[in-house]
Amino acid sequence: MMRKPSDYSRICVKIGSALLVGDTGLKRAWLEALADDLQALSKAGKEVLVVSSGSIALGRRVLGLADGPLKLEQAQAAASVGQIALAQAYQEILGARGLTAGQILLTLQDTEERRRYLNARETMGTLLKLGAVPIINENDSVATNEIRYGDNDRLGARVATMAGADLLVLLSDVDGLYTAAPQKDPNAVFLPEVLQVTPKIEAMAGSAGTAMSSGGMKTKVDAAKIAQAGGTTMVIGSGQVMHPLQALEDGARCTWFPAADCPANARKKWISGHLKPTGALHLDAGALKAVQAGKSLLPAGITRCEGSFRRGDAVRLVDCQGREAGRGLVAYDIGEASLIIGRNSTEIEVILGHSGRAEMMHRDDLVLDAHAASLA
Ligand code: GLU
Repeated sequence: MMRKPSDYSRICVKIGSALLVGDTGLKRAWLEALADDLQALSKAGKEVLVVSSGSIALGRRVLGLADGPLKLEQAQAAASVGQIALAQAYQEILGARGLTAGQILLTLQDTEERRRYLNARETMGTLLKLGAVPIINENDSVATNEIRYGDNDRLGARVATMAGADLLVLLSDVDGLYTAAPQKDPNAVFLPEVLQVTPKIEAMAGSAGTAMSSGGMKTKVDAAKIAQAGGTTMVIGSGQVMHPLQALEDGARCTWFPAADCPANARKKWISGHLKPTGALHLDAGALKAVQAGKSLLPAGITRCEGSFRRGDAVRLVDCQGREAGRGLVAYDIGEASLIIGRNSTEIEVILGHSGRAEMMHRDDLVLDAHAASLA
């Protein structure tokens, strides 16, 4: 069966620098055509996010920096100049199509540290709920080499899994994965589908990048691993055509990396199986019933909390009989949690002196043991 982007509901599109920026600057007509495609998906009820490269490539042209490798501080300065131009272009071009763009610049820690990860996830979710299109890039002007992704393929995969996207589209200057580099090897065979990224697949990807992007096939295959593990299907398709998403819709050649799970299940498996709990929340009977009915856990229904947890940590949920009922990521540090348990969520601001989340644990961040067994 032929897959297409519109089979999915939350779609993250990653755009490589070489597609967006040419010798004379931003390729505006291409971006306009892409925006038409995004508008069509949005009209069809899909939520879209864009991970856009191009800040360094664009900024270096604006600043008149010579071709060739840039020093870190030059790349950072170029990113600073390029990002502002890029954001403006997205705002204008999406705006002309009735779409509101919201910019998010992330660092590696924002995606790797759970405390910060939850914030970025929340912002993206809220933007999508409000009907806006998050436009995401790495915060290149502050990230230094040791602490940066450097390539937007892996960043795109982290963003997609973080946002619970069921599809990640990598638009690139190649149309997919081949058994060898097709420019060099006439026997290279195209792969339409990769169910799992095995060492053999990794070896095929090699490490060659193109002149302008930091990626290449290796980072794309790394991205596929992140995406598939997070329940996000990934597709690599050519961005070297006008209306590249429509082209995929119409069956253009591409490589699919289907995910076995949906993002919600993959996330729940991760929460229940991979994180070591650092504390516990004791629930009263009403709270247990509420979470069993699929609701979030509110502070009001918690009788006691223990441990040394911090916001974003995994904690155990314990019922009135002292049995573990499930696990999840807690939205407060133990200090604050102790102050607000048993209290109504409307009182949180007065008690803590700042507004916080209404839930102690969001339902997306919570897995009951009975459910965990069915996920395995
Ligand atoms: N974040 C970089 C930029 O916007 C691009 C990274 C990449 O080439 O993948 O310029």
